[in-house]
Amino acid sequence: MAIERTRDDFPAKIKRALAYRVSLQCSNPLCKLPTAAAHSAPDEFNCTGEAAHITAASPGGPRYDPTLSQTERCSASNGIWLCRSCARIIDTDEGRFPPSLLRCWKQEAEASLLATLKLTPESPVVQSDFTLETPFELHREVNIRFGFSFLVPEHWNRWNPQNGDGAKFAHPDDEEIEIRGWGGYGILHDTLESSVEWYMDVLRKDGYFELISLSDVTRSVCNIVESDEDKELVQQGIKAVRMVYRSGKCSYLHVKTRVSGTEFDVRCQVPSERYAEFRSLFVHSTQSLRILGTTMAAHAKNIPTPQELAR
Ligand SMILES: [Zn+2]
Repeated sequence: MAIERTRDDFPAKIKRALAYRVSLQCSNPLCKLPTAAAHSAPDEFNCTGEAAHITAASPGGPRYDPTLSQTERCSASNGIWLCRSCARIIDTDEGRFPPSLLRCWKQEAEASLLATLKLTPESPVVQSDFTLETPFELHREVNIRFGFSFLVPEHWNRWNPQNGDGAKFAHPDDEEIEIRGWGGYGILHDTLESSVEWYMDVLRKDGYFELISLSDVTRSVCNIVESDEDKELVQQGIKAVRMVYRSGKCSYLHVKTRVSGTEFDVRCQVPSERYAEFRSLFVHSTQSLRILGTTMAAHAKNIPTPQELAR
């Protein structure tokens, strides 16, 4: 009796390639756990990672795509390296982890590793953003209450909420194009990750929501600047997340970070059909976010940006 093949599993060679292409790190940008470690036997190791299927290996499985051939289904392009726990999590909620998101994770994990190893000039994603010119004159908006600042176009209309949590800037010709930045006490959540999850859940409940990408922008976004006598202390590499999503008829590029229990957001919005036009401005604005601490906020305008410091 012939045994029918029901699962299109990855061959060992493909699994190995997927693992090594990300240096055995989990590809989820919010996880990045190493997935191999020493075994008690000196000539063995423990592997806690998996070559997960972007679209399922068999009908009825998560994100199954019937249009793929058997060869395509077990090819490297349908796989992503994840730690065991992330591999389980993505299968519990297909709406939250669609194939497009998993492909973004994979792409970013591979690209950022190449940049770390200096095999590409810089993180390709970040570098292309920095070199883009924006046709706007920018000025630095400083929030005294929470101690943060970010760049916004000079001639956009400014709106200030009564409570001093932040400010909103709208394009003079179209109020639906805006950049807003705000701070808040992150009392509902203990971590940046849970706060991001919660925020996206709220948007989903609000109606149409599609996550385009979720990436770790720790390297490019945030500094803490503290005053130590007459010396300024710049601390880089504060964990930050960039979400790109569509909600309703608008698209958003949104950076969120958290420092000592306070959360900071810069969120840019534009009608989806005009996203490409404003993307470089939005990247520039969100990457200019600096956390200053309330003591530094008063003279924040004199503190150079990371780009200026790098020159
Ligand atoms: Zn993981």
